[in-house]
Amino acid sequence: MRAKTSYNTAMNKGGAGAGKNQHRMRRERETIAAMINIYCRAHHGVIGNGLCSHCAAILEYAALRLDRCPFQENKTTCARCAVHCYKTGMREKIRIVMRYAGPRMVHQHPLLALFHFLDGFRKKPRQPRTPAARI
Ligand SMILES: [Zn+2]
Repeated sequence: MRAKTSYNTAMNKGGAGAGKNQHRMRRERETIAAMINIYCRAHHGVIGNGLCSHCAAILEYAALRLDRCPFQENKTTCARCAVHCYKTGMREKIRIVMRYAGPRMVHQHPLLALFHFLDGFRKKPRQPRTPAARI
C-alpha cells in the first residue's frame, strides 16, 4: 500500500481547519509525512516516497489524529501537547519515528524543521474546545 493515497484522503477531508488555518495543519501533515518517510527509508528500505504498510498505517493514524486535534490552528507540536490523544501502541511507534527522524529533518527538510521548531514555542492551550476522543 502506498501512503500517498491515504495521506491525500485525510487532507481533503478538511475537518475543523478551514481557511487560513489549513495552512498550519497542512504543514503539520507534511512534517509528519516527511519524518515517517525518513524513518521508513532507513529502516525498511523503501525507495522514494512510498512507505511500507507498517509505516503507512502510522501515517494514516497520525493524519487522522491531526484531523481531530481539538486545538487545530492553535496547536503546539504534538510532543508538547497537554492532551495525549494517541492510543498507547501508536504513541510508542510515533515516538520511535520522531526520535530517529527529528535530527535528520534539519538536513533533509530544513524549512519544515524550522517551522516545527518555531511551532514548539506556541503556548500550550489549556482547554481544548472539545475533548479529543481516544481512538
Ligand atoms: Zn516502513
